[in-house]
Amino acid sequence: MYRTHHCGQLRLDHTGLDVELSGWMDTKRDFGGMTFIDLRDRYGIVQLIFNMETDEDLCLQARKLGREDVIQVKGKVRERSNKNPDLPTGDVEVVVDTITVLNKSKLPPFTIENDTDGGDDLRMKYRYLDLRRPVLQEQIKFRSKLTIAIRQYLDKFDFLEIETPILIKSTPEGARDFVVPSRMNPGQFYALPQSPQTFKQLFMVAGMDRYFQIAKCFRDEDLRADRQPEFTQLDCEMAFVHQEDILQTFESLTRHLFEEMISVTLPEFPRITYAEALRKYGTDKPDTRFEMTIIEMTNKVKGYGFNVFEQAPFIGGLLLEGQAENYSNKNFKELTSWVQRPQVGAKGLVYVQWKLDGSIKSTVGKFYEDDILKNWIRENGGKEGDILFLMSGDTAVTQAQLGTLRLELGRLHGLYGADDFHALWVVDFPLLEWGEETGRFYAKHHPFTSPKTEDIPMLTSTRRDHLESIRADAYDLVINGSEIGGGSIRIHDRTLQQKAFELLQFTPEEAESQFGFLMNAFEYGAPPHGGIAFGLDRLCAVMNGKNSIRDFIAFPKNNMGLDVMIDAPAPIDEEQLQELQLTVVGKE
Ligand code: ASP
Repeated sequence: MYRTHHCGQLRLDHTGLDVELSGWMDTKRDFGGMTFIDLRDRYGIVQLIFNMETDEDLCLQARKLGREDVIQVKGKVRERSNKNPDLPTGDVEVVVDTITVLNKSKLPPFTIENDTDGGDDLRMKYRYLDLRRPVLQEQIKFRSKLTIAIRQYLDKFDFLEIETPILIKSTPEGARDFVVPSRMNPGQFYALPQSPQTFKQLFMVAGMDRYFQIAKCFRDEDLRADRQPEFTQLDCEMAFVHQEDILQTFESLTRHLFEEMISVTLPEFPRITYAEALRKYGTDKPDTRFEMTIIEMTNKVKGYGFNVFEQAPFIGGLLLEGQAENYSNKNFKELTSWVQRPQVGAKGLVYVQWKLDGSIKSTVGKFYEDDILKNWIRENGGKEGDILFLMSGDTAVTQAQLGTLRLELGRLHGLYGADDFHALWVVDFPLLEWGEETGRFYAKHHPFTSPKTEDIPMLTSTRRDHLESIRADAYDLVINGSEIGGGSIRIHDRTLQQKAFELLQFTPEEAESQFGFLMNAFEYGAPPHGGIAFGLDRLCAVMNGKNSIRDFIAFPKNNMGLDVMIDAPAPIDEEQLQELQLTVVGKE
């Protein structure tokens, strides 16, 4: 063994003990007669001390050590005269007798500390050094502990952990597939799973009853801060269940994980329908850490000659309490430009500012008497000191814009605390979604999702509004405005599945060639079943109050989908191309 203890382990109790430690040279401080070294490993940091007077050779040896050198030391633990309360080992230090350099390190390209001087690209290139930083070590440890807690919990409830293949055929989750050419079957391609969806359903047909997997999923889509081309799901499926059983089971799991991992007790998760979520929050993943829901103003504000409102099918508002005195013209201008950015896309922002002295300032003051404007605020529970923001236009678009503004106002004015957690279920998603550009229906969740039993008769309608109003037994788990999980009760009947494919404009031949295996399975005693998948990376991020999932993934890709450390993707050589019978168009 290279060590008797870890660097983070030593306490006052160990005083007088002879120890051996191994780790990385973190920092070094030379003071005339003394040299101090912080030795670091995954478990923490401990101070080593060298004394010029008592052992000059050793002290000189220590002074020669460079950052990140891997060393082994032998020495005695003693109480520190100058204790460091910020360090778990801060009561003690190790008086070193011998140093062995196990491996010299080149000077690292950035400092290995939480507040590193390394930029994103450099840290990604040297991710193995980045991962040595204590923050990242903590985040990766968190993830490990979380997956272990998930396994222990689900095992207790009879879930089987079963792997599914990676080289498969397309599974439609709405993204593009990554494909892999088959050498043995030239001209044929595997697709990497966007999720194990069809396999987990087949497990239910196979009588496995309860399945889970910590599964890698691959989706070739444009990347954002919280998206990665390969990511991890906690994927689950259960047989003989209704929606209610799934919600109960996975609400309990989520509460258990919050309790176990971050000592947070979540209250029972409220439920909100998809339609209500859009109406009140302008999004199907509402951040319910704060109220300030969207106020429907359409009928109230029309009839006063303000053309913009007269022509708008929808006018909605947000009441910002207690901020009227803090908003200057400049603030309003800034916020207006903010909503006009292409990311939000609003034409403008109307405000009604009710000052504490009773005066009203408003962009639409010309059209409405002060009393009318005050009433708008009063009727929605507001008073002097509040601001009402209004936006108008197409209903869905305006609700979404108000939803985005709501989040910004929440953030700007600290309407929620850093340690607040609000979880809820969004239920009753529509089964289908109309694609304006393509003029056809898409599955809102995926094509295997079951319509609500009472809405099944509407599947035969030819009217778009009827079809749009069909609700699915589909649900999302949302925490702090992040979609953490989503799932549905599945169709388990061949005829209904065929009908669903037909609505999604699969020809019978396409449906058969792509999903014949599943529909055939439905003819051999498929039990009613349903499931859910959690975004594991995102769950880690949300539980830690972070926006980006990247630092919970050991080796993430950048926003161009590149791994700059191993340099992937990369061209393959001519021989490989030939074996695969592939030609790269445009290659010299
Ligand atoms: N396969 C679905 C998804 O990846 C989850 C599910 O329906 O269970 O979103």
